[in-house]
This record gives sequence, C-alpha cells and structure tokens, in this order.
Amino acid sequence: MTKLTENNPQGTANIADDRVLAAVHITKCKRCGREKTWNGDDILCPFQNSDVFGDNWCCGQLAKIRLIIENATDKEDSRIHYQYCEGQQYSTINVSDIELEETAESLYVTWYKSRGRTEGMWLMNRGYPPRKPKYEELQKIIEHYSLYCG
Ligand SMILES: [Zn+2]
Repeated sequence: MTKLTENNPQGTANIADDRVLAAVHITKCKRCGREKTWNGDDILCPFQNSDVFGDNWCCGQLAKIRLIIENATDKEDSRIHYQYCEGQQYSTINVSDIELEETAESLYVTWYKSRGRTEGMWLMNRGYPPRKPKYEELQKIIEHYSLYCG
C-alpha cells in the first residue's frame, strides 16, 4: 500500500472510499476555475466527477469557503463562528437564509492549520443527520457571503 503522507495525497487513492474515487488530481479546477500557482501537490478537486463534497487538496471552491470564514472572523460577523484548537480549525457558517437543495441551518467546516485538505464539510439541519454539501449549494453560500470572498 502506498504510504499516506500530507505531501502525498495521491496515496489516499488506495483507500476504498467513494469520496476518494470521485477525486481527480489536476492543475486547474474546471468547475471553480482555480489554477495551480504553487510548487508541491496538484489540486485534488472532488467536483470534477461528482457534485458532492469529497476528499480534496487546494480545490478552488473549498478555498473560497475557507476565505469567507477567515475574512468574516476578522470582521466579527456573528453569522460565522470560528474556533482554533491545537492547529485544527472549526467553523460554522449560518446558511438558514440561503435556499439550498434541502433546508439547512449551518455549514460546518474543519481543516488543519493552513493545509490544502479541507477535512470535513457538513450541512446541518435540526433533527436530521449531517449531510455533505453539493457544489451548487457551496456556490450559493459563496454568493451569499461574496463580500468576504472578493
Ligand atoms: Zn475544485
């Protein structure tokens, strides 16, 4: 089995997991338009073959959500909560005013330090299990909070 390291996200392709199978290593995100401008690992975009959040590395769409969290936290926007604990970053974005495929109250997001992988994204709704967001739903959230994402 390929050794899995942070600098070798390709190694994760050996994990039997549908999140990983949908992901593709690329230097440009066709859907979100981000181009690779750094040395190191290529973009791993979950949205090239799938509409649903999955394993990733420096995907443009997910980077925009993280930018919103960062900028809103600087501005102390009460719709976005943020916590940092031992390098792990946790945030919830209020999405209750946004019309999504299924109703949701908030988007939960977590990642480690400033690493390329966004480890978790879940849409949360009262009384329902969390579900993974779809590309179009993230797009609506990005548009709703576009003042933080220019
Ligand atoms: Zn992408």
